[in-house]
Parts: sequence; structure tokens; C-alpha cells
Amino acid sequence: VFILTSKEIVHREEISLKEHIKAKRLEISLHVVLVGNNPASLVYVERKKKACESVGIHCFIHAFQENVTEQKLIEYIKELNKNPSIHAILVQLPLPKHINQHRVIDTIDDRKDVDGLTTKNRTRLVMEGDNGIVPCTPLGCLHLIKTVRKDISGLHAVILGRSHLVGKPLFHLLLSENMTVTIAHSKTKNIEEVTRCADVLISAVGLPKFIKKNFVKSDAVVIDVGINRLDDAIIGDVDFEDVKNHVAAITPVPGGVGPMTVLYLLKNTLRCYELIHAKY
Ligand code: NAP
Repeated sequence: VFILTSKEIVHREEISLKEHIKAKRLEISLHVVLVGNNPASLVYVERKKKACESVGIHCFIHAFQENVTEQKLIEYIKELNKNPSIHAILVQLPLPKHINQHRVIDTIDDRKDVDGLTTKNRTRLVMEGDNGIVPCTPLGCLHLIKTVRKDISGLHAVILGRSHLVGKPLFHLLLSENMTVTIAHSKTKNIEEVTRCADVLISAVGLPKFIKKNFVKSDAVVIDVGINRLDDAIIGDVDFEDVKNHVAAITPVPGGVGPMTVLYLLKNTLRCYELIHAKY
């Protein structure tokens, strides 16, 4: 089995990003809107800021109290949109329940939408593939898949999970790469039979050790997006020990998809910068 870790890929790509930004003397800024004190969100935001700084992207965090109104956030984002020295905007999810997440996200200028979550960017992914801005986790998954399978055209990908953040955009991204794509979810019947057809199996369900060896075929590539916090560890959706000797390649958790998501946040930030500076 090939253990598909991301450390070296991320290291290599970050060096090349850093060199590019330095050589062209780019002044790029990412602005993160953070609401409340969700502990996981605080960890993620700090990780993103650190990654930005390591490649020479300026990262600013705009923190709001848990009880901020939707209107106030929307007005604030409109100001960020107008500011020409701001290239990329990220709203850290989830937002508190009293705020309509979709309305807030859709306020972001499509060119500054670093997470690729506005209606226009989502529609573009469906209609045109990866021409616009595509969410970071699906891009990270695709990169990992291509690391082990050079020609993915026609291979069967099975995705578990149909969220707006991971499953659905990944479906369209892989389809645009000419993969044959199946998406399964909590209502799927005989799920093991579906996943056993997968040349590439991607799990994004958020259930610890959900995927066992009877879910996979022997030459499969398994990409584990799940992040499940137990008392003493973070583990994926895949029962790594049970599955690892029954597949061709498998990503670990931690050290697989997570760092790739952060890498693609940096790449998408550069992409936003280029879109803002593109001549129309
Ligand atoms: P989500 O919005 O909770 O979606 C979970 C999906 O899993 C839903 O589509 C759900 O189906 C499906 N599901 C639940 N139970 C299932 C079952 N028994 N069999 C088959 N499908 C089932 O989660 P998400 O935001 O996509 O995140 C999924 C996981 O990925 C989480 O652990 C999250 O922490 C992790 N994540 C990791 C990264 C990273 O960078 N590594 C990034 C984002 C998310 P229904 O639609 O039918 O309810």
C-alpha cells in the first residue's frame, strides 16, 4: 500500500508559491471574517494565517462577537469588496444559527471569493469546470488523486457525502476531469456495494472509522476527508488499520487532505489576486 501523505507536496508547492510572490514583489492580502469563539474555527483560522505568512501573503482576521447581526456582516463585507488592496475574502464557517450563511457568503465579490462558494462561482464550476474559483478541499483531493493515478479519465470515483463544501463541488470537479462519478449519502442503499465499485473512493461523511475493508476493492485509491475529534485524537472516516492492506493507496488523518486544503487556500488567494488585476 502507498500511504499518500501530503507533507512533501505541500512543502514543495509552498516554496514555489513563495518564490513566485517574492520574485514578482506581489503584495497580496487575504481577509478572514470570524464570528464567535467556536474552538475548531479559531484553530483553523490561526492555521490559515500561519500558512499565509509562510509564503508572504498578508492575512488579516476580522473578528466579530457571536451576537453580531447578519446586516452588520453584510455591510462589512461590502466595504471589504470595495477596498482595492483586499484581494481575497473568507468567511469562516459555520456562522451562528441566527445568521443566513448563504446571504452572507453571496455578498462577497465573486473575484474575491477565495472559497469558491458564491452562487456565481458554484454555477461556474457546474457549467465550466475549474475555470472559476473552486473550493479548496475538492482541489486538494484532486491533486492527491493525480499524485497516484496519472490518467484519471474514465476511472470511477465514488464520493461519500453531498455537502455544499465538499461532496457537491468535488462531484463537478471530478466530472470535469472526465471521471465517472457516483455520489452516495445517508439515504444510499447497499452503500458497500456502491463503494466497492470505486477506483477512487473519497469519504466526507464525518463518521469515525466508518469505512471498513469490505467497502473497498483491492486496487482502489482511498481519500479520507473526514476529521473526527475524539477525546484523545483526531481520526478520519476510514478505519485506516483495517483498510490499509486492502487498497493501492490511502491518505492518513491527520497529514492527508487537511494540509492540502490549506495549500489550496493559498493558491486560490493568488488566483483571486490575478482575477482582481486581470484586464477586462
Ligand atoms: P456535512 O455537511 O455534515 O455532510 C456530511 C455528509 O455525509 C452528508 O451528505 C450526509 O448525508 C453524509 N452521511 C452522513 N452519514 C452517512 C452515512 N451513514 N452514510 C453515507 N453518507 C452519510 O459534512 P462536510 O462539511 O461535508 O464534512 C464532512 C467531513 O469532512 C467532516 O468530518 C469534516 O470535518 C471534514 N472536512 C474536512 C476538511 C479537510 O480539509 N480535511 C474540509 C472540510 C470538511 P445526507 O446529505 O443524506 O445527510
